[in-house]
Amino acid sequence: MSKLGNETAKAALGRATWKLLHTTTLRFPEHPTADERDALNSYFFLTSRLYPCGECAAEFQQLLKKFPPQTSSRRAAALWLCSVHNEVNKRLKKPEFDCANLDAEYDCGCGDEATSKNLPMTTAR
Ligand code: FAD
Repeated sequence: MSKLGNETAKAALGRATWKLLHTTTLRFPEHPTADERDALNSYFFLTSRLYPCGECAAEFQQLLKKFPPQTSSRRAAALWLCSVHNEVNKRLKKPEFDCANLDAEYDCGCGDEATSKNLPMTTAR
């Protein structure tokens, strides 16, 4: 693939991933259990380990060290991720996103049902 093709594919992967991550935090419980908090924390660390773009994964790992995931509530998680994404934006010289617009940007049309049915990760296989 050409360099341009690589960059286009990397950007498409990034957009899809950010969409999934932001939507996930905005569907995270308002009052999460300890297990739900643990699951979200692990989700970010596993994403940073397994993310297919190596340069991006390394960047994300550094950011997680500097800014540990906030999982105490939906709002805390969503705002934390927004600010981490803004850190990546800064590095890539992209405009800062106004985190007050999160709700409008990430309506997944998923209805009111809960996302997590409190299944511990060990039984969700
Ligand atoms: P994106 O940054 O993909 O954002 C998509 C949309 O999300 C925007 O159009 C906007 O509507 C919204 N948005 C923007 N900022 C925020 C925010 N702060 N909060 C909520 N919503 C927002 N690319 C590299 O070249 N090098 C890297 O090191 C790198 N690291 C990455 C690390 C991670 C964890 C991820 C998921 C992606 C990474 N990428 C990296 C990809 C990069 O961040 C972009 O996804 C890609 O360049 C496409 O950019 P974009 O301009 O389409 O907008």
